[in-house]
Amino acid sequence: MKPLSIYLHIPFCVSKCAYCDFVSYKATFAHSVEDYMTHVIQEIELYHKTLKDSEIKTIYFGGGTPSSVDAKWIGRLVQAIKTHSVLASDCEITIEVNPGTLTNDKINQYLAAGVNRVSMGLQTTNDTLLKTIGRIHTTNDFIVTYQALRDAGFNNINLDLMFGLPGQTIEDIYHAIDLIQTLNPEHVSAYGLKLEEGTPMYEAYNKGLIQLVDEALEREMYHTIDTELAKRKIYAYELSNFAKPGFESKHNLVYWRNKPYLGLGVSAHSKLNGIRFGNAMTLKTYQEKIDQGEKPIVSEEIIDTEDDCFETIILGLRLNEGINILDLNNLYAINFKEKYRDVLSTLIMEELILLEDETVKLTALGRDLANRVFLAFYPDK
Ligand code: SF4
Repeated sequence: MKPLSIYLHIPFCVSKCAYCDFVSYKATFAHSVEDYMTHVIQEIELYHKTLKDSEIKTIYFGGGTPSSVDAKWIGRLVQAIKTHSVLASDCEITIEVNPGTLTNDKINQYLAAGVNRVSMGLQTTNDTLLKTIGRIHTTNDFIVTYQALRDAGFNNINLDLMFGLPGQTIEDIYHAIDLIQTLNPEHVSAYGLKLEEGTPMYEAYNKGLIQLVDEALEREMYHTIDTELAKRKIYAYELSNFAKPGFESKHNLVYWRNKPYLGLGVSAHSKLNGIRFGNAMTLKTYQEKIDQGEKPIVSEEIIDTEDDCFETIILGLRLNEGINILDLNNLYAINFKEKYRDVLSTLIMEELILLEDETVKLTALGRDLANRVFLAFYPDK
């Protein structure tokens, strides 16, 4: 049995956030959700051969807002996977939820379906900012939902934070940390705002209607989050992710360790058997292909060894544990220290990486300038 992780994309949201470029739609008619979910179950069946030889280590319901749809679908999707495959006894099953879309009944249905980890978007505790970025909830809504999840028995909760939002201050960050201290989640993800073309926030920025925080303040926010969370025993283990020991996200570790995963649903991507492939980006094409009995794949790329090695290096460097040189040497039949001798000596001299025994990792400065480090390993073809 090969280990496999599964991502399921649920592309429905109550409304669209101003910065979001994920594939997500406002689910206006119940039947469009039903139609979509039925197609995802059919897509699972199309992977019958892959699934029957796999042990499922993690399942991740992402979106979109998976909690915006009827909770019965989460149980049905888990069941569809179980019909074709074996779930590991410690299978991590995560669902992304947003305050304002959850009820006690939904929470209980998730538990019954085997969901054992919840990821919830706080983003900021500044309610004015929440409104500016198009979130539908207030901080109080978040607290109420969080408490309901705890009361129901969820003991592995991630909370998403954003920094670098227009008008956000360092005091806002401290305020969010205070709330984290009170709520005591097992995991925190903290992402800097990225302006994505085509989003309302991108347009507003181009018209000069909003200003972004400068780079120095953005970095100060990141370092404040890192330091203050560590004081509360929530430690950085990846560039944007922090956890209490033992609560690191198993699903996301699969991505950072460049291991295989299967993405199901519209716009989902997969990496399997040395091939990277992507599903149709529109509901129409996604559903049409499945109706024709085909997997809804629209892009496919065979990953050559050189590219795979590069990806393993840059993804692994995102992790605080860094990359193990002996593993790389075995996996790609290379002599890492020899192949990257000049790159390594430059990056060490610039104090961007540390080479300790057989491990390479980013320094604190390297974490700030991670993209520069990643580029240095880009293959010369
Ligand atoms: S809730 Fe998430 S997926 Fe939905 S619009 Fe907002 S950021 Fe995008």
